[in-house]
Amino acid sequence: MGVMHLLERAASGERLSRDEALTLYAEAPTHLLGRAADRVRRRKHPDRVVTYIIDRNVNYTNVCVARCTFCAFYRPVGSSEGYVLSFDEIFRKIEETIAVGGVQLLLQGGHNPDLPIQWYEDLFRAVKERYPAFRLHALSPPEVIHLSRLSGLSVPAVIERLVGAGLDSIPGGGAEILVDRVRKLLHCYGKATTDEWLAVMRYAHHAGLRTTATMMYGTVETLGERLEHLFRLRDLQDETGGFTAFITWSYQPDHTELAGVEATGVEYLRTLAMARLVLDNFDNLQASWVTQGGKVGQLSLGFGANDMGSVMIEENVVRAAGASYCMDEVEIVRNIEDAGLVPKRRSMHYEILGEPFFRERAVPRMTTLATAKPEGEAGVPAEVLKYPARSKAAKAAQEERR
Ligand code: SF4
Repeated sequence: MGVMHLLERAASGERLSRDEALTLYAEAPTHLLGRAADRVRRRKHPDRVVTYIIDRNVNYTNVCVARCTFCAFYRPVGSSEGYVLSFDEIFRKIEETIAVGGVQLLLQGGHNPDLPIQWYEDLFRAVKERYPAFRLHALSPPEVIHLSRLSGLSVPAVIERLVGAGLDSIPGGGAEILVDRVRKLLHCYGKATTDEWLAVMRYAHHAGLRTTATMMYGTVETLGERLEHLFRLRDLQDETGGFTAFITWSYQPDHTELAGVEATGVEYLRTLAMARLVLDNFDNLQASWVTQGGKVGQLSLGFGANDMGSVMIEENVVRAAGASYCMDEVEIVRNIEDAGLVPKRRSMHYEILGEPFFRERAVPRMTTLATAKPEGEAGVPAEVLKYPARSKAAKAAQEERR
């Protein structure tokens, strides 16, 4: 079937097969791919509204035993640059977030063997006690699997315990490319295989949680493997309907073991448009301005995205790998309005919360994203030492304190 005919079919809502999607991804002219994705976006969101959320992207620890080769963020156990945030530091970040209209934390971190499930439960309970309306969008599937392995509990039992402590929803991180050949090459097969990642999401959806889905492309995968990733997500969405949104971004190579070069902005736009055409059962696609910058982020709105993602406030992971874009709410709203669209604040569940917050109340402008810790600071707070340690380094630190 010819490319033009396939584009017309996809734009009018017909489901693409794997072969058809590959033909489009490899051969369709970029502007026509965008036009088709934009038609789908307009049909799903005819009111011209583009949403965004004010939340804060907090990484509670950078200590990680997974050692993915594409990651510049983690530090090994015992590293002098390893950190764990104290509960007080996290509370302060929440208060700063609430002050600028924020409604949740996106809370993710490394696979730290010295943070048992009780640490997470204590943290979540303490957050909910202090800020009952504040949401916790926390712990990607590999972190849930890590806690399952650490605790000896099943994945459903871990999810149940975390929900009991205050978990509201699960972010779709750690998906990278959901093809085991790629996961083995990236050294992330051990943290979660494709089936394990999908199984966590399936359990979460069955437990009544909504989650997001992500894809990091541009490492070692083929175009066909990127599409396979999308088809696995489409299949699970058919089954559960539990994904609220899809977010894709390009691999950021600086300071990583894998190294390499970053994919271009055009490749990002093509990938986003393909996601809109393949993921016909996803309502929301976010623009990844944090890896692409504001201008490509704005262009994303013509390539299938209907959401500008998060104001973010803080970012540590892609910054460690070389990306350092910053957009505060004013800038996000300007980009949406300049594209002729209507900005609205939303929750993680995509409920509209209102007009831009800065038009209701004066908030300070933000010109750089915050970091987990001030430059050069690291370390583990004393409160962590009361939890049973697994690593030799933490056991030695506990001994020293006795
Ligand atoms: S991507 Fe996540 S799991 Fe992998 S090394 Fe980095 S922090 Fe650890």
